[in-house]
Amino acid sequence: MTKPVDNATIKKMDRDHYLHPFSNLTEMKQVGSRIIERAEGVYLYDSDGHRTLDGFAGLWCVNLGYGRDELSAVAAEQMKQLPYYNSFFGTTNAPAAELAALLKEVTPPQFNHVFFTGSGSESNDTVVRMVRRYWQCQEQPSRKVIISRKNAYHGSTIAGASLGGMGYMHKQDEGLPMQYVEHIDQPYWFAEGGELTPEEFGLERAGQLEQKILELGEDNVAAFIAEPIQGAGGVIVPPASYWPEIQRICRQYNILLVSDEVICGFGRTGHWFGCEHFGVEPDLMSVAKGMTSGYLPMGGVIVSDKVANVLVEKGGDFNHGFTYSGHPVSAAVAVANIKALRDEGLIEEAASGSGAYFRQQLQLLAEHPVVGEVRSVGLVGAIELCADKQSRDFFPDRGATGTLCRLHALENGLVLRATEDTMLFSPPLVISHAEIDEMMTITRASLDHVA
Ligand code: PLP
Repeated sequence: MTKPVDNATIKKMDRDHYLHPFSNLTEMKQVGSRIIERAEGVYLYDSDGHRTLDGFAGLWCVNLGYGRDELSAVAAEQMKQLPYYNSFFGTTNAPAAELAALLKEVTPPQFNHVFFTGSGSESNDTVVRMVRRYWQCQEQPSRKVIISRKNAYHGSTIAGASLGGMGYMHKQDEGLPMQYVEHIDQPYWFAEGGELTPEEFGLERAGQLEQKILELGEDNVAAFIAEPIQGAGGVIVPPASYWPEIQRICRQYNILLVSDEVICGFGRTGHWFGCEHFGVEPDLMSVAKGMTSGYLPMGGVIVSDKVANVLVEKGGDFNHGFTYSGHPVSAAVAVANIKALRDEGLIEEAASGSGAYFRQQLQLLAEHPVVGEVRSVGLVGAIELCADKQSRDFFPDRGATGTLCRLHALENGLVLRATEDTMLFSPPLVISHAEIDEMMTITRASLDHVA
């Protein structure tokens, strides 16, 4: 493909006109951006000639890896045939219908329906409207509060940011009236577990859900939403005791359980969906990212029979939807992507092939002097950097070491992400053992650099 303009001009256009997401806009005016020109497999290539291993699959999404010609071919073909038509007012299109049926095959048995969106944030907005509609139809309209968790990330729309538990996002604006969203503590044993064993701590944190329901009155609570493994919050893998207790509480108080699978879905944990790793049976799942491996934007809410039957039998009009719900090109790409994940055995690979190898290799870093804990499930993992392994004390200037480590890795050819001093990994599911070795070699060098 010919470049329309030279790199210096691209950088100037970017600096002068482009307001970037989740970025320091003041700083970017001085520093500018790095241009990613192309990508293949697990590698990114920038305009300065650097090759970088993408240990983060873009933003936890390029599960199938880069450069898959069959996905671009499917998109081009679909664009020629039908680039767009809405799925409102009694129309559908073949890829959206095929995708809905394919999702039924790869999701747990309670799921037979999907509502399509354009992103994870829109999926969680849809969750808010759908659970309220469900309770209206059940003649319990007082059930409006959604309980979420501190440090959760559920998106950047007003509802998504409000559901999420990111303090820095809440500080920026007020979001939804907070009487409709309540946050309980996260099951982050390494940082907050104190003297409790992980299992005691898991029960204690799950117990906060019950306390919150009792405090609010169960007739006012609509749903509990959580990521199976909290992603942006720091790949918080909950203790084994946590999810079964959450499930018990939701069932006891008749609270809808929503699994935000935007990161964990489509193989990341070595299961199709993260809830399956923990044996949890949610009523709704929000999805996006790995659904198309990021090749085109698309998301959805996967709806259990329990909810769908009520919406269909008692609901009538559901006044909610997006211009791009069921977009034919995105749907065609999602179908091709899901079939590739399935037919190439990449879910099994993330569980017992490359996922098992990743876990083994990450575990070797646990001995490093600055590492307090390593944890992983499938192909998502984290390393906790800390000043004292025994006491689990973080470095005093929290976040500075993580940034240093991340920048060192980047300079040496590896993209990682850091949440404060927690180094996060989420490579494409197609990563080979040799590429995992490369990722670990660079990571070890970066740990040595900050030690
Ligand atoms: N939910 C989770 C768990 C996420 O990690 C994200 C994005 O990172 C979202 C929702 C929002 O998705 P999107 O950025 O596609 O709106």
